[in-house]
Amino acid sequence: MMLEVNHLKTYFYSENGINKAVNDVSFSLKEGETLCIVGESGSGKSITSLSIMGLVDKPGVIEGGEIFLEGVNLLKMSEKELRGIRGSHVAMIFQEPMTSLNPTYTVGFQLDEVIKLHQPTLNKQERYSKVIEALELVGMPNAPEKYNEYPFKLSGGQRQRVMIAMAMACEPKLLIADEPTTALDVTIQAQVLELMNKLKREKGTSILFITHDLGVVAQMADHVVVMYKGVVVESASAKELFSDPRHPYTKALLGSIPTPGHAKRKSRLETVDESVNYLSFPKEIR
Ligand code: ADP
Ligand code: MG
Repeated sequence: MMLEVNHLKTYFYSENGINKAVNDVSFSLKEGETLCIVGESGSGKSITSLSIMGLVDKPGVIEGGEIFLEGVNLLKMSEKELRGIRGSHVAMIFQEPMTSLNPTYTVGFQLDEVIKLHQPTLNKQERYSKVIEALELVGMPNAPEKYNEYPFKLSGGQRQRVMIAMAMACEPKLLIADEPTTALDVTIQAQVLELMNKLKREKGTSILFITHDLGVVAQMADHVVVMYKGVVVESASAKELFSDPRHPYTKALLGSIPTPGHAKRKSRLETVDESVNYLSFPKEIR
């Protein structure tokens, strides 16, 4: 198993009480597969992924559970060991790109550093070609020009593409992508999703993909975990989930995806009835 999350609990404490953002979440991701976590905004998707990366900040606290990466419990690791893992085995693409690019170095420099680390036998010229290729693969216009730009000079969508290029250049065993394409236009989004699928096919990369878009789930997932208010309400293979959704919340979500012949698509999951307490139904874990 590439990743195994058991009974993870991540809480936020405030004057108003405890927010159980991740409330006893379990799932596992097989090697070489893509697991999608899907759910509405605020359901605990990002906090789950940040917990895995050891990046939960105060007032958030991991209160319990186990997170095994290839059999090693990350929650028992020191900060230094975790940093080593983040640099080599696991790469993450965040929702907000500016937080993870260094504003003081050019795009090319930062990509070159990553490639230097992961392919130390390449010379400078070979690395330059790799950087340009990586930028072109994510649909960056005028890649050679962008090499010498600082992140703040790029648009949000372009910064996100640099982040994606960097994460992929690491050739991680596990790629965690938190709504990586939300800021991109449809064409570039399709291109990036295809690129991730290629990475999976050719390098056997395992992918944890977080999204609120069921169209994206259909395109990426082998297995799907549906989150609602910090809880996993359904877990099933992608095939099962789409053909035979069991949990009322999943059914409500699926009600908002396009049906063939209906061009208009509601990719945001707005149609779920707020007045229903979906936690009152039993979980469906298959
Ligand atoms: P999602 O990614 O599914 O949209 P999140 O994982 O970001 O949801 O958030 C889950 C819950 O944790 C939400 O109720 C959110 O308000 C809360 N939360 C997230 N970050 C913080 C924070 N820094 N401080 C307090 N509460 C937070
Ligand atoms: Mg999020």
